[in-house]
Amino acid sequence: MNIKARKTLRSIRKQSIPRIFDTVTHVRTINPVAALTFDDGPHPYYTPLLLNLLAQYGVKATFFMVGERAEKHKDVVQQVRDAGHAIGNHSWSHPSFIEINHRQRWEEVRRCEQVLSLSNSRLFRPPHGHQNFTSRLDLLWLHYEVIGWNVTAQDWLEQTPAEMASRLIEKVRPGCIVLLHDAIYRSRLAKPQFNREPMLEALDMALNQLTKQFQFVTVPALFGYGRPVYTYWRRLD
Ligand SMILES: [Zn+2]
Repeated sequence: MNIKARKTLRSIRKQSIPRIFDTVTHVRTINPVAALTFDDGPHPYYTPLLLNLLAQYGVKATFFMVGERAEKHKDVVQQVRDAGHAIGNHSWSHPSFIEINHRQRWEEVRRCEQVLSLSNSRLFRPPHGHQNFTSRLDLLWLHYEVIGWNVTAQDWLEQTPAEMASRLIEKVRPGCIVLLHDAIYRSRLAKPQFNREPMLEALDMALNQLTKQFQFVTVPALFGYGRPVYTYWRRLD
């Protein structure tokens, strides 16, 4: 393939394919706004603690919930909803979407959608961040926007609250989407950090600084501040 053809292909990829097959990682904006996202809940103990913390700072967030968990803790789902946070789909049972087939993926998404009574919120976060071309295509058919992230505190690993907080303070920028966990569900790690108290402590420390400068909004609200940035997202591990 000559250079010109290669350039043309690259520009087609950049212009048209991303909107359909790629994944939102953040929003381009100069406004001091950012979105916190919490995966793998709802958790009967940690999620209410988190809701209190978010309320203290006047923060709205987005919760990507696991259907199996939401069915067991419907009251917690309702508390999240009543507090004005956004809710997204994180599948029924948190399998890697590159390790299950088309039919299983549709079932995972639809079962979770039903228990969460999602109608207008069509946000999906792939379990483990895993995605390939066919799984992305399934979410397109199911009319979901796939939401990645561009900032993490790596709160699934054992770390001190101060380490996580400083990572957040350092990395949060206008338009970013931050990945955090209000629970850890079926982790693939040998030693996942199930205890969410270090994360909650880190978040308290980080919000104490960051809310002086940033407003934290839900992912749908973040889209109102600028154009979503799409990234080629094929995570296999
Ligand atoms: Zn997850």
